[in-house]
Amino acid sequence: MKVLVPVKRVIDANVKIRIKADNAGVETTNVKMSMNPFDEVAVEEAIRLREAGTAQEVIAVSLGVARCQETIRTALAMGADRGILVETDVELEPLAVAKLLQAVVEKEKPDLVIMGKQAIDGDCNQTGQMLAALLGWAQGTFISKLAIGQGTAEVTREIDGGLEMLSLKMPAVVTVDLRLNEPRYASLPNIMKARKKPLERLLPEELGVDVAPRLVTLKVEEPPKRQAGVKVANVAELVDKLRNEAKVI
Ligand code: AMP
Repeated sequence: MKVLVPVKRVIDANVKIRIKADNAGVETTNVKMSMNPFDEVAVEEAIRLREAGTAQEVIAVSLGVARCQETIRTALAMGADRGILVETDVELEPLAVAKLLQAVVEKEKPDLVIMGKQAIDGDCNQTGQMLAALLGWAQGTFISKLAIGQGTAEVTREIDGGLEMLSLKMPAVVTVDLRLNEPRYASLPNIMKARKKPLERLLPEELGVDVAPRLVTLKVEEPPKRQAGVKVANVAELVDKLRNEAKVI
């Protein structure tokens, strides 16, 4: 079984986001970038499948600027076998990402695509669903458990009312939730080894995909600052404030 894992380069989750002075977007110059946390979980799951002998090959693919290579190298250091970079300076929207991934899938013919449920920069939560639709494949979103059966992927997904178990006919696309596993850290020897693993570079034109943006960002603003709270002495005061100040009861 072959597994494809898309990995996105995003602003590190611990960085405080700054808005650009012209409100055109968020500042990324001299900002620490890392692999999208949900994608780390996806890479971990794929590597576990390979370690268990269920999968034979794990391919990490990233789409974007040349420095996305660093994100791919992180996946390779965690244990992925090889990488593919689709290089472009265009800011990619989920539909363009899904179309590029569709082209990579058609080239590589994986049995399973394991990806993050969302990227923490745009919070779109769209790409996995769009990719499954474009391919006409089964999809299991927000999974917190994965087991491979006879030509099927058995997934557990978290929904409002509890847990839903689905049996997906492979090939399939699954998107992962943080509860699926605890991703490993890459060891120094594995970081060194990752430098020698193969990394193929492709261009959107070679894949026949038009990545021109279809959305226009009008303005990016900080959310309004929250007012400081007040401490109340007891429940009676709280009830009084809720009734007479906030007027919510
Ligand atoms: P989104 O729909 O933007 O929230 O992203 C969902 C998932 O799609 C991410 O967790 C990644 O697995 C994948 N993805 C999105 N953009 C990219 C990209 N530029 N390169 C690789 N994978 C991506």
